[in-house]
Amino acid sequence: MPIVAVDDTDSREQGMCTTYVGVRLAERLTAAGGTVRRRLLVRLNPAVKHKTRGNAAVALHVADVDVDEAFALAGETVREFAAVEDPRTAPGVVVADVPVGMVATSAAASKPPAIPSAVTAAIPEPVVRFARQAVHERLSLETAITLADRQGYPHAAFGTGGADGDEAPGRGRIGALAAIGAAAAFDDWTAAHISYRALDRCGTPRSVDAESVFTAANAAYPVVWDTVDREAGEVVCVPHAPGPILHGIRGDDPAACRRVAAAIESEPVERAATFHTNQGTDVHLRDGTIGDLADGTCYRVSGVVTGEPESRRGGHVHVDVAAASGATPVLRAVAFAPTGRFRGHVRALRPGDRVTLCGEYEVRTDRLDPTGTLKLEKLAVRDLVETTSTTPPCPSCERTMSSAGRDQGYRCRACATTAPGKVTVPLDRELERGWYEVPPTARRHVAKPLVRGGFDAPVHPER
Ligand code: ATP
Repeated sequence: MPIVAVDDTDSREQGMCTTYVGVRLAERLTAAGGTVRRRLLVRLNPAVKHKTRGNAAVALHVADVDVDEAFALAGETVREFAAVEDPRTAPGVVVADVPVGMVATSAAASKPPAIPSAVTAAIPEPVVRFARQAVHERLSLETAITLADRQGYPHAAFGTGGADGDEAPGRGRIGALAAIGAAAAFDDWTAAHISYRALDRCGTPRSVDAESVFTAANAAYPVVWDTVDREAGEVVCVPHAPGPILHGIRGDDPAACRRVAAAIESEPVERAATFHTNQGTDVHLRDGTIGDLADGTCYRVSGVVTGEPESRRGGHVHVDVAAASGATPVLRAVAFAPTGRFRGHVRALRPGDRVTLCGEYEVRTDRLDPTGTLKLEKLAVRDLVETTSTTPPCPSCERTMSSAGRDQGYRCRACATTAPGKVTVPLDRELERGWYEVPPTARRHVAKPLVRGGFDAPVHPER
């Protein structure tokens, strides 16, 4: 009873999508007498450079079919649908012989059904560890192949793509192997209901009625999230890329996601499927310490703002943070222009504020002075500086006093009043304590929307 996993089948220019290949493969497995127990859409390290978009891999848990047949059908499906003409596409398939259990009933009706413990317990620990690493680090194809061989998992590479420098063809086996381990590596599962258009329509504008999307999204919020961006007035669930996805509905409740999809008026939906996914879970974030961050990993780091935020050309907002007041090194965090209104919260920070920042740490080595930045996804304001010290006003005329000379305090020339030194006054702050996030239009697939809850401070969700 195999877990069949595929990855790296799409191309930025030519389209396609690994979830679509997974759905077509599931149909073939079913036609061959197999029973698809669940489909996993697994998001891996979003900082991996060679991803096409959201670094997704797909694993199908299938009963009533043997490993050899599943492997043959996976190869056939990938050969037919993957965009192998793109030299950057490097499809890979890995199959694991693991009991896939029955379809469990959901503990809470609003959650995807739990993955049975008989399944998670049967996935070998090194494969589970590999999946966990794959969301945080950059792994090599060689490591994936060695591990798959050691476990006796058949695997295959397709096309000649992936020979783009440091990797060989079949790089998709990294993501595929991670998608096998994912069932046991992660425990926060959300739902994605994806509807596909006919392949011959790919590349043409999608016909989806925005008003029906907003109505359906509003009716199901907040168990269904990131369908639209209400403040920007934009539909988020309809991709712009040339692939076969018509819309993808995300949420905690699979049935609610399906209801939203069904209520959307659009061109014909050719096929659709619901996935278990680690989207919207923040599984990519690792607790980190300023000064000890690795390139290409996503972190949650805490510190103190060390300078006034700066708005730069292009609309990006930079802010510096250190582990403690006056400490070095200083970490530069950036809210890029597409994060829209989130930048206002970053701009509102003041030196001395205590924060927790989340995002991808990237070291740009193409510069003379390689510097690391944290690309912000969300932040928590822990403590706000609420006062500032300022030159005192004159108690008679209320105008700001001037210096009376070095170490001699302040005075008002007109009224002859004096004051011994600066005074502390309250600061008017636009920010409140708690978590802020980028808007749905800028959200990474794997990032957890604040509305899902479970955060350690009050939340200010973007909807
Ligand atoms: P697709 O829809 O095709 O899955 P994508 O945006 O998910 O598009 P891919 O085309 O799959 O991106 O490219 C991601 C590649 O990165 C795959 O070859 C995958 O095996 C590999 N990969 C995934 N995670 C890691 C990792 N942690 N380290 C190194 N490579 C990885």
